[in-house]
Amino acid sequence: MEVNLLTLIYLISSVTFIVGLKMLSHPAKARNGNLIAAAGMTIAIVGTIFLYKDDNGHTLHNYGWIFGGIIIGGIIGTVAAQKVKMTAMPEMVSMFNGMGGACAALISVVEFNHVTEAFHSTAGAVLLEDNHSIIGHILTIYAGSLIGSVSFAGSVIAWGKLNGKIKDYSFKGQHIFNLVVLAAILVLIVFLMFNFNENYYRFFYLIPILSLLYGVLFVLPIGGADMPVVISLLNSFTGVAAACGGFLYDNKVMLTGGILVGAAGTLLTILMCKAMNRSLKNVLIGSFGGNNITGAQSNTGGSYKEISVSDAAVALAYARKVMIVPGYGLAVAQAQHACHELEKLLEEKGVEVKYAIHPVAGRMPGHMNVLLAEADVNYENLLEMEQANEAFNTTDVVLVLGANDVVNPAAKTDPSSPIYGMPILEVEDAKMVIVNKRSMKPGYAGIENQLFYQPKTSMLFGDAKAVLQQLIAEVKQL
Ligand code: NDP
Repeated sequence: MEVNLLTLIYLISSVTFIVGLKMLSHPAKARNGNLIAAAGMTIAIVGTIFLYKDDNGHTLHNYGWIFGGIIIGGIIGTVAAQKVKMTAMPEMVSMFNGMGGACAALISVVEFNHVTEAFHSTAGAVLLEDNHSIIGHILTIYAGSLIGSVSFAGSVIAWGKLNGKIKDYSFKGQHIFNLVVLAAILVLIVFLMFNFNENYYRFFYLIPILSLLYGVLFVLPIGGADMPVVISLLNSFTGVAAACGGFLYDNKVMLTGGILVGAAGTLLTILMCKAMNRSLKNVLIGSFGGNNITGAQSNTGGSYKEISVSDAAVALAYARKVMIVPGYGLAVAQAQHACHELEKLLEEKGVEVKYAIHPVAGRMPGHMNVLLAEADVNYENLLEMEQANEAFNTTDVVLVLGANDVVNPAAKTDPSSPIYGMPILEVEDAKMVIVNKRSMKPGYAGIENQLFYQPKTSMLFGDAKAVLQQLIAEVKQL
């Protein structure tokens, strides 16, 4: 009876994951989608703890460890999520993703010990060749420890890169070295499959150790602008590693959850590659030293012109069409509400206002959509990159708010640039461009932006929130 109830719970949980994931695709429903999937996960965990029985009818017994882990982890997670600033969300998501990878890797280590103990307790080692399910079990353990460890180490490096604590690093011949490390792990796995006996058990631990090294080496050199692809790839790794756990425990809900995360992460990786106009191979081995400032990207020493808040307000208020380009700086300034207020004010004056959304603007996929949804900006006013690029030549004023890399023309004009080939928002096609940021410093990719020196462009320096509030006050006077 309990087993049936547990199966039913797993089925309900799996459905909530699918429904929740579907709802995440629309900002208005995303919050509820998240809650539904979280509720499904909660009943799956509680159901497993109290209703699970193994083949011999044994229930779980180590409740002290289980609830100890839940309480400690729950407190850390809740406090971290409550305290985190909205701007630090992307790095926290990356760290949480890494924790999922670490869990999957640890499950594999624990299960490896269970398998070796079981082998000792049987009369002599069971010949692996005779037992396909054991071969599958052990291969899943190796895969889980490999993928989970790569995901954990890679996510920790991504966390450091997103918060600026870790800089891009590469050495000569690194991609060959990386391939050698990966090949060594695969050879070790094959070797251990054919030599599964107590003389070699200890070599198993080399799999997670080398995989951790690989995870670090694999993410360290990725150039700034390519990070979105890596982040979504690591996300899919964690999903696959969790699915390995589902196979090991024959746990359907863990399997479904892992597969959904793995598939969603893979689709996101493909979308991100498309958004960056990069092949995955190119991102993984082609962008070493992405942060080097070279040739045409280095400081041009050219001159730029500034615009006052009142002149900017006049330009905006008397325009027919205005396009706002939000970027990471808007999130840093938490200026989304002020931005929406300016939009409404301009609309009251008969100005058509739209938002141009670049797929990698900000620091996490969908960052700008989430940010603007928080301020109740109408979703209909958000234009995707292709639509926005078609609309720029009929736009009077583009207001760039804390965006930089996503409007950098070097992506089109400078083959030596690390962002060369990435589609950008072609704001120069508009009649006038006003760029708000605090200084002439580069964006995440660490490269100069020629847009700021062009005759059409005027710089409006200052924190986005403060500048928007001043603009609102000025527009109200007009
Ligand atoms: P950028 O990081 O290129 O530029 C942001 C700009 O905002 C900076 O130049 C900064 O200039 C300005 N800024 C910072 N704080 C403020 C503030 N308070 N007020 C006003 N301006 C501010 O951002 P984009 O959104 O244009 O591009 C995103 C970049 O991040 C891309 O390179 C992308 O590849 C990368 N990335 C994206 C991820 C994703 O999933 N979306 C994940 C990881 C990386 P100043 O200091 O002068 O104010």
